[in-house]
Amino acid sequence: MVATSMDQLVSLCKRRGFIFQNADIYGGMQGIYDYGPLGVELKNNLKAAWWRAMVYERDDVEGLDSAILTNRKVLHYSGHEDTFSDPMVDCKKCKGRFRADQIGGKCPVCGSTDLTEPRPFNLMFKTQVGPVENDENIAYLRPETAQAIFTQFKNVVDSTSRKLPFGIAQIGKSFRNEITPRNFIFRVREFEQAELEYFVNPGTDVEWHEKWKKARIEWWKQQGLKEEHIHIYKTPDEDLAHYAKACYDIEYQFPHGMEELEGIANRRDYDLGNHTKNQDEFTLEAHCHENKESTTKLCIQDENGKWIIPFVVEPSMGIDRGMLAILTEAYEEEDLGGGNMRTVLKLKKHLAPIKVAIIPLKKNNEQIMAKCHQLKKDLMKLGIGRVALENTGNIGKAYRRHDEVGTPLCLTVDFETIEQQPESVTIRDRDTMKQIRINTSDLAEYLRNYFL
Ligand code: ATP
Repeated sequence: MVATSMDQLVSLCKRRGFIFQNADIYGGMQGIYDYGPLGVELKNNLKAAWWRAMVYERDDVEGLDSAILTNRKVLHYSGHEDTFSDPMVDCKKCKGRFRADQIGGKCPVCGSTDLTEPRPFNLMFKTQVGPVENDENIAYLRPETAQAIFTQFKNVVDSTSRKLPFGIAQIGKSFRNEITPRNFIFRVREFEQAELEYFVNPGTDVEWHEKWKKARIEWWKQQGLKEEHIHIYKTPDEDLAHYAKACYDIEYQFPHGMEELEGIANRRDYDLGNHTKNQDEFTLEAHCHENKESTTKLCIQDENGKWIIPFVVEPSMGIDRGMLAILTEAYEEEDLGGGNMRTVLKLKKHLAPIKVAIIPLKKNNEQIMAKCHQLKKDLMKLGIGRVALENTGNIGKAYRRHDEVGTPLCLTVDFETIEQQPESVTIRDRDTMKQIRINTSDLAEYLRNYFL
């Protein structure tokens, strides 16, 4: 079973401290969310899993962490200034504003069909850099992380001596002034993306596009998404952006429907072609914007020593959408019989915000508490992630809380621990709820085997 309604997730996320509405005390801000004590842990774990698979486990990818504030020229030559827009309509009756392609010709608020003609609405947030307000000083909050990968292409190649094929990976915030943010953290105005730009020899792009599609589906399965909840949508040729050769969307069965989780596009030489100096020296396949301002040729030598502008395959996913998918998949309401229910997040252990909860049977017993503190200190050294000390003193409540936040193991220190030799504790498994007793001298090995 998975979450069947968004309300189940919104409620759990607020109750247990995963996700809060931003500026909640002032009534919130549409399309903006804050990640709470457990949300930040889950998010960090998801990002670490992506980074590990995309950078550390491979020998052909380097990382980058570029600025959010973006020089206007970057987003001019990338095409975003002119074309990064959604068609927008206003309802003449209730004055609501909506994305024309999402409402089927009818105002979703008042039902009126008296709408304005669709107009393009640029989704980028504009700001001013420095004390003087003029056109020269306009900057944007980046609407995707990818553009800096292209503008830094030459610096990365020169500093790492990379040869084709190779990739540059980045995780970071992006901003889009979405006309209709909705469905919790699915469509928001400030979000995080994890993007890889994988540069290849033209002619090998189709093969690499297929390889990345497979690799990314596998990765999502490792994060716990079941194959039957994933769908691959291939954009029909007539709907492709003019520069794209092909595009797959990995879609997931969210509570509100089957929707895009990640896009994997074959963008040919469009991006590097847009930003390169001396465009005439290269045979560009994509239809690029004329650029007389770039100071650098964004090219690399192929195996014959010829300077070329490589093609790029781009897997691009949203961290927030990823979290929503993972929470949806992990959510279970289990009937334990006898009118007993429990909510449990069956998160993969590498994603769980808390790996081990140490629970004292009695919180006002000095010896038990001292043992708990000592165990926490020892277990932290294993490098398995967050080990949390519970101080509720109520075992039942602690188990319920840790089931709900997905803690794989609960470790209880009881009277037997402090009174009997060899010293032992109980370990309870989140999914089976089975408990075993284990000697504390065997604990490190047990946990290392379990988590690492
Ligand atoms: P959509 O069609 O849903 O607006 P998109 O095709 O514009 O998305 P891309 O530009 O391909 O999205 O961005 C890559 C990924 O970034 C998406 O697959 C999604 O996971 C994430 N993403 C894009 N826009 C948002 C948003 N407003 N809120 C949360 N995540 C987003």
